Amino acid sequence: MKKEFVVIGLGRFGGSIVSELIELGANVMAIDITPSKVDEYADIATQAVVADTTDESALLSLGIRNFQHVIVAIGENIQASILTTLILKEIGVPKLTVKAQNEYHKKLLEKLGADHIVRPERDMGIRVANNVLSNNILDY
Ligand code: ATP
Repeated sequence: MKKEFVVIGLGRFGGSIVSELIELGANVMAIDITPSKVDEYADIATQAVVADTTDESALLSLGIRNFQHVIVAIGENIQASILTTLILKEIGVPKLTVKAQNEYHKKLLEKLGADHIVRPERDMGIRVANNVLSNNILDY
């Protein structure tokens, strides 16, 4: 059976997760509040949907509780990220990966029970620095 994911927020980060998961053979429901973002992924994702994920009823009507793993890639709008995470935890999504914008955002997400928190620019910076030091420039 194919693995199934939901990706919320189709900026550069969320969008690249959608494309890579599809490339790797997974099923992906891609969600964004902005219709033009959703249009971009209509032919890439298994399903692309316009929705405000701070609206619990919208999430429930999309059947989000049936997915094992949801990735919240909303960054700039910290309030939307936090509310979305809170609702997904309340719904009982088994696994949540969430993008944090800064250290305070990260701490809040931890308190809400996010399973995995990423800070893409910072994490990538650390990785590049380590690879540069070990001269492993081919493996960023
Ligand atoms: P990136 O750095 O990954 O390119 P970005 O800076 O372009 O991200 P962000 O502000 O991090 O954009 O948000 C990512 C996406 O999340 C945007 O496309 C935005 O429309 C979407 N988004 C914001 N609020 C909501 C919401 N309440 N429901 C669904 N999607 C949302």
